[in-house]
Amino acid sequence: MKISKYKKFWFKCLILVCFLFLKSLTPVAAQENLIIVIIDGLRWQEVFQGIDPFNAPKDVATNKNLVLNKFWDSDPKKSRAKIFPFFWNTVVSQGQIWGNRDIGNKVSVKNPYKFSFPGYSEIFCGFVDNKINTNDYGNNPHVNVLEFLNSLPQYKDKVAVFTAWDGFIRILNVSRSKLYIKAGTDLYGDANPDAEQQLLNTLKSNSYIYTYDQNKMLDQYTFYGAFDYLKKNKPKVLFIGLAEVDNFGHKFDYSAYITSAKQDDKWLSDLWNFIQNDSFYKNNTTLFITTDHGRGIKDNWPYHWTDVPRSEETWFAVIGPKIAANGEVNLSRNIYSGQLASTYAKILGFNFTVPNTVVMLPILDIFKKNISNPAFPRPLPITIPKIMTINKK
Ligand SMILES: [Zn+2]
Repeated sequence: MKISKYKKFWFKCLILVCFLFLKSLTPVAAQENLIIVIIDGLRWQEVFQGIDPFNAPKDVATNKNLVLNKFWDSDPKKSRAKIFPFFWNTVVSQGQIWGNRDIGNKVSVKNPYKFSFPGYSEIFCGFVDNKINTNDYGNNPHVNVLEFLNSLPQYKDKVAVFTAWDGFIRILNVSRSKLYIKAGTDLYGDANPDAEQQLLNTLKSNSYIYTYDQNKMLDQYTFYGAFDYLKKNKPKVLFIGLAEVDNFGHKFDYSAYITSAKQDDKWLSDLWNFIQNDSFYKNNTTLFITTDHGRGIKDNWPYHWTDVPRSEETWFAVIGPKIAANGEVNLSRNIYSGQLASTYAKILGFNFTVPNTVVMLPILDIFKKNISNPAFPRPLPITIPKIMTINKK
């Protein structure tokens, strides 16, 4: 009798140990869904400082014009909030915004090229391959984090990609990764588009290809195609790649560059509002926003390239239930785009590992509360010389 009780006790202990062991294998702080939005070529300078006074006077003089007046303020914080109200009201109060170099927080690409294919490859594959040195590169040989997530039972066939640029078919090696993708001129709804998708497809088919030097469609089709897919198909991981900001930059059109960024902010706000009111996504979805490269400064602002100084400088913003509400981050850190792949996996509770590959470490600070760097001196207010006069009505 005594022995039997003894056995029962140890049997219970064994079950408890097994339970704790299995529990330790399940992801900690797991979240179910992740939406990644990448705004191609949007500088940190506009995100944190608003309208660049270097660009404003020229446009005001030539356009007489009015777009920039709407977003200009001598106080950079007011100017940035006019362009990005979602960032500087919602994200800053509930999430985090990284990359303000004026307060010592640096986010950069690590690849030496500072343009799109190498940038996105670094973001999604988690390291830099110096051989990837052209936007015309073929199928990316490296495993990307979207493909990794799509290989997990929890996310199998629940990962989707919508991009304005069809280069992502090669960047994400869709012929190997088999990711669900709608890129460039692709239409929506697959074999059976419903009435809304048919209308979107009709508009898209009769639009022009917004081309700088690649096959890119207007962002409105990409965004609404993705938003429609989100509502109807409920992907657990969604990547939306927007391209117009970069294209307007290359065209030296600062007003359109700003207007396009403002539109992206509105779409992000609509997306987040939907998430907050949808039973599938509410309270279990993280929104991660970033860019693939920076741009030069002053006369170099339209460009980004190996030889364009400061075009490695980027930023990111993140909001979600497991992301601490740390606002504008002033930690003195050097963060790289290559860390985003493992960060995306970590947000969902997984470690991004690829055989025979060293991927960069995730950014664990996004999960910590009240991060700040008291040792770093608070910046002096940014003063902008009065070099422009705008007639205000
Ligand atoms: Zn570009």
